[in-house]
Amino acid sequence: MLRRANQSKNQSDVTVLGGGLAGLSFAIQCRQQLPDAKITVLEKREHPVPEAAFKVGESTVEVAAHYFGSVLGLRQHILEEQLPKLGLRFFFPAGDNSRIEDRLELGGKRYAPCPSYQLDRGRFENYLGDLCLERGIQFLDQATVRDVEVNRFGSHMVDYELNGELQTVESRWVVDASGRRAFLKRKLDLQMPSEHVANAAWFRFGNRIKIDDWSDDSGWQAGHEGKTARWYSTNHFMGEGYWVWMIPLSSGSTSMGIVAEEKFHSLSNFNSFDKALAWLEKFEPQCARVVRENADCLQDFRAIKRYSTECKQVFSGNRWGITGEAGFFHDPFYSPGSDFIAFANTFLCDLVRRDLTGRGYRIRAFSYDRIFKRFYYGTLSAYQNQYQLFGNPTVMPVKILWDYLVYWSITGFIFMQGRMCEQTMYLRNLKALKRLGTVNHFMQDLFQRWHQSTSQIKATGSINISEMPVIRQMNQRLKDKLESGEFFSRFATNLHQLELLASEIATESGLDVELPFAVPGHDNDDLVPDAFHEIFDSIIPAKSPVKMVS
Ligand SMILES: Cc1cc2nc3c(=O)[nH]c(=O)nc-3n(C[C@H](O)[C@H](O)[C@H](O)COP(=O)(O)OP(=O)(O)OC[C@H]3O[C@@H](n4cnc5c(N)ncnc54)[C@H](O)[C@@H]3O)c2cc1C
Repeated sequence: MLRRANQSKNQSDVTVLGGGLAGLSFAIQCRQQLPDAKITVLEKREHPVPEAAFKVGESTVEVAAHYFGSVLGLRQHILEEQLPKLGLRFFFPAGDNSRIEDRLELGGKRYAPCPSYQLDRGRFENYLGDLCLERGIQFLDQATVRDVEVNRFGSHMVDYELNGELQTVESRWVVDASGRRAFLKRKLDLQMPSEHVANAAWFRFGNRIKIDDWSDDSGWQAGHEGKTARWYSTNHFMGEGYWVWMIPLSSGSTSMGIVAEEKFHSLSNFNSFDKALAWLEKFEPQCARVVRENADCLQDFRAIKRYSTECKQVFSGNRWGITGEAGFFHDPFYSPGSDFIAFANTFLCDLVRRDLTGRGYRIRAFSYDRIFKRFYYGTLSAYQNQYQLFGNPTVMPVKILWDYLVYWSITGFIFMQGRMCEQTMYLRNLKALKRLGTVNHFMQDLFQRWHQSTSQIKATGSINISEMPVIRQMNQRLKDKLESGEFFSRFATNLHQLELLASEIATESGLDVELPFAVPGHDNDDLVPDAFHEIFDSIIPAKSPVKMVS
């Protein structure tokens, strides 16, 4: 039986339930914008947490890297204590997958202009926790939230247990960052089933595993010396219905995971270490070999069923909000988890700041909630029903590059231009955003159909994306500092380019399809015209049947 603390209630402007990645980074961002606000973070684990074998969510892409590095100002820690990431890298199936040099590879040989990082989550959360304390945030570890009372008028009440005593904090805002515990989602009955049914298992080894050592073929090794070795990438080993990740951590460990859509590979076939090893022996023998060799330094093993999670609402005018996995999570394939933390935190900080500085926030909460969900469902289409083509070396490289360009043209572009909370921007671009949504959905359907006609085609070779001008330039453009007029014209260019690309890909697919838009002409500012020819050129040695457009 818990004793209730004898003291009067604590008061806070913002109380954060859960001090993981989302909660701690939200608190730091909130402090930046509101130097005098009283912010309380309640985290049930004891700090410092262990390094390496702690949580998944290690690979970041451009938005998250920008959010942690620039928006929160953590670049120095990241550069000194974490690892740079040589982008995402993909290996497609070849034979029995026992020779990596025979597999079609898509990845870069140089770092992209916009950085991304591999984060050791334990090390990172320890740093964030210390920073919270340094900046006057009341960060309480070993504080377990027991109940939340959300009140439409007046303060919210959060009961938590600390040192065997039950305490209450009375708070104007409550932000749920409790991860899978999902306090507010359960309390307010906001659960929603996700139609994307996929599972994962992961484990870490206390050794650095370098895939660069998997072949002594000098041609295969060329261009990947020193800091551009392949092991710096988030490596994806692809097959029908699945992918396997390999991520290096700065603490010297290596993270490995199997992710698969349930209808292709049941979780019951890889939900223990022994079963995962047997599964790898069958589908990814080179991964299996290093797992066997490193089994004596295995650090952990976890599995999660149906990781995709949804929520009816994440921001409310009644002064509550949800961030991180406590709300939505679609899929780890392109490492978007931390991006969506950046989006949610940015919207939430703006709402709290508006309220505490006497500005309107209720209508904003409604509209941010809608925008966030649009971004989520727009991105979900890149994963849902797409695992069937993960082993297809003809379609998948094109899809991956398409998905990159969509990301850099819309959500990545808006966020990195600092315009996430600009309502007029959305209103002005409403038509363009709708068109982008239509084009993207059309393309995701097309990839599935294209897959049906090409699934048996094999491929080998390498697609070096760092030498593709459109990829490098679109990535570089994310760093541009644009004035308002330039921003809107770039947005229009992005849409124009995507439509052009879509029409080229549709032609190359050889499918009989009707485009949902009029094919645009080329503008001088477009990067597109040659882009996909390069990609098709790269796939041609793979003897794909795609023909070049004249
Ligand atoms: C298989 C898989 C792979 C992934 N890979 C990536 C990736 O490579 N890159 C990426 O960006 N994202 C990835 N993600 C997503 C990533 O894991 C999440 O984005 C991120 O970890 C979510 O952080 P969070 O703070 O919301 O949750 P968590 O990190 O889980 O934090 C929640 C915190 O709440 C605390 N808590 C829970 N209950 C209570 C309570 N009652 N009282 C007090 N505290 C409580 C917990 O102790 C915890 O610290 C992956 C997800 C999955 C499923």
